[in-house]
Amino acid sequence: STREHVTVIGLGAMGSTMAEAFLAAGHPTTVWNRTAAKADPLVAKGATLAASPAEAVAAGELVVISLVDYAAMYDALGAADGALGGRVLVNLSSDTPEELRRASRWAAERGAELVTAGIMVPPPGIGKPGAYAFYSGPDGALERHRRTLEVLGGIEYTGGDPGLAMLYYQSMLLVFWTSLTSYIHAAALLRTAGVKGEALRPYIAAMFNDLAADGPMGFLRIVTDQVEAGEYPGGENNLHMQVVGVGHVVQALRDAGVDTTMPAALKELFVRAEAAGHGADGFTSVAEVIKKPEA
Ligand code: NDP
Repeated sequence: STREHVTVIGLGAMGSTMAEAFLAAGHPTTVWNRTAAKADPLVAKGATLAASPAEAVAAGELVVISLVDYAAMYDALGAADGALGGRVLVNLSSDTPEELRRASRWAAERGAELVTAGIMVPPPGIGKPGAYAFYSGPDGALERHRRTLEVLGGIEYTGGDPGLAMLYYQSMLLVFWTSLTSYIHAAALLRTAGVKGEALRPYIAAMFNDLAADGPMGFLRIVTDQVEAGEYPGGENNLHMQVVGVGHVVQALRDAGVDTTMPAALKELFVRAEAAGHGADGFTSVAEVIKKPEA
């Protein structure tokens, strides 16, 4: 085969699908998993099951890791210490940015290079159009294996700091979770008046589109520029008016018997920004209290 050899450590939902994608693309693939039976379907498709992590790592330069967290990497590869020299470890597991930085030093002490990554698709999306992952760490090592890693999806290199891949990944999750959870709060409120979610969805869809576009409702860019500049023009839309408004939202949810956790947290942030003197500024001044949390 002219395709590069890949070792895949970890055959959970993600790792199994990654190994499958490498096999389908014609890469000789060696696999290892703590629970060896999970390798059976892959072996049936041509993968080689390594008897130990050390054997798996010895099989080639590129080692793709997908485990529950970084502690699992130490559990799996700790005993393979001597085999790590000269290897490129590409870890697509999630953890904190600090853990990724620590792991980068751990790998370097063993003569390996660690490329950290945060993958932005669930298992069925791996290798499919639109799939991508954020990568950080040594760009030379990443470039050497770009063609192979592209089997999983697009490569978004974020920089040399090994924590960056996870900072981007977590940023994406934070916005995904909070915006859609707010939508769930909103739909629950309307449902108390007998309105189905589908009645609200088109308005929310239009708002998401407008937010991302350029123009007077293009708040993604407006917020970015204001927060970057530290300037929060209030104009006819000041924070004080919105503190009153978010208070009404929280009360409406309470009156309707719907949970208020996220909207109440939002109200608390707005109230703190106003108390810090931003009442006449725009709501983007909330950036100031987010930057400097209360002790
Ligand atoms: P799974 O729970 O399916 O798989 C977890 C894997 O970790 C298994 O291979 C498991 O081995 C292994 N593992 C756990 N603990 C240890 C340990 N102490 N020592 C050795 N191996 C261990 O998880 P996923 O495949 O869904 O996720 C893997 C990573 O990918 C996670 O970090 C997740 O956050 C991230 N991710 C997942 C996405 C998803 O949609 N699923 C999307 C984006 C990122 P065993 O089989 O023996 O239990």
